[in-house]
Amino acid sequence: MKVIKIDKKDWAKGLERLSKTFQLFGPIEQDAFFVFKAMEDGDLPDLDVQNTRLSPRSIIYPQSEKMFEYTLDENQEDHHVLKEIDKDYSSRAIIGIRPCDAKAFLLVKRNFDAPEYKDPYWIKSYEATTLVGHACNVPCSSCFCTTADCGPFHEEGLDILLVDVDDTYLAKIITEKGERLLAAAGWDTKADTASNDRIENMKEATEVKITSRVSTDQLKDKSTTDLFEASFWEDVAFACINCGTCTYVCPTCWCFDIQDETHGLSGIRMRNWDSCMYPLFTFHGSGHNPRDTKTQRVRQRFMHKLKYYVDKYDNGIQCVGCGRCVRFCPVNIDIRRVCDLMNSFEL
Ligand code: SF4
Ligand code: SF4
Repeated sequence: MKVIKIDKKDWAKGLERLSKTFQLFGPIEQDAFFVFKAMEDGDLPDLDVQNTRLSPRSIIYPQSEKMFEYTLDENQEDHHVLKEIDKDYSSRAIIGIRPCDAKAFLLVKRNFDAPEYKDPYWIKSYEATTLVGHACNVPCSSCFCTTADCGPFHEEGLDILLVDVDDTYLAKIITEKGERLLAAAGWDTKADTASNDRIENMKEATEVKITSRVSTDQLKDKSTTDLFEASFWEDVAFACINCGTCTYVCPTCWCFDIQDETHGLSGIRMRNWDSCMYPLFTFHGSGHNPRDTKTQRVRQRFMHKLKYYVDKYDNGIQCVGCGRCVRFCPVNIDIRRVCDLMNSFEL
């Protein structure tokens, strides 16, 4: 794969040129934290931030998204007709996405772009987006990506991988989308063959820094019923306050709810992120709730990520090891510990 060198002195100018044809998103400081947001005139992505609290998943799959509008005014010819709301699917690029967050889109894609059904909003949004990754030279202590089929220099899901080396970014071009983006930025695209080895060496040196791990090799062979009925769930769930943080910060969570918001005679049908950690998530119209205890809900989250997903797709766990849920759970419920409990479970 071709690698080019971008002098950091030319970085801002290139982004400015890119902004003529791409809507640019990147990690920007906001209220003492970093979030992925649209870059305004003069904004530069802060590529020194280790990892953002929220992943950039909302750029592809907004936390709240308008789907349809309608009127209940019977004087209008089209009353009670759902009308699709126009959306912007013009070219955009996420600059500085971490490899784990880019890989997470591929896991989520299995749900939104499945052979048996397609989610047009997610698909169009994803296809309009070019992902310019930033390799992690300094991983967080809670990252366990190397044992979750990912890694600090992982390329799967990325269009370009940037590696920060002194006064330059080495840019590895992974896809044609990435090639087109670099052409639009106007940086010198002469191949720098020596840099390939340099990236490989840095990758190996960084991977050994990641000492946090999970074991997943036995998950597929475990009986679903045995794991479901395991006695450790009460203990795992004991401290949970069902705040939903773990699901909102997770780049691989995909659940949503569809609601109509009606004001007077006009309304909007919305799609909002939802969380399996909330009691209302499974509340039936009949009043019955199949998951009305927190132990059931905590079990569902881990069984989905570490067993149902594994069995259904036979392609690893539904987790890229970004460590966000480990860092932000207010009561320290740790997916690494739960994964090990499940992986080593014996009746
Ligand atoms: S972040 Fe922790 S406390 Fe909150 S719902 Fe998730 S596991 Fe429970
Ligand atoms: S489950 Fe936790 S560690 Fe895994 S991808 Fe989600 S937030 Fe990251």
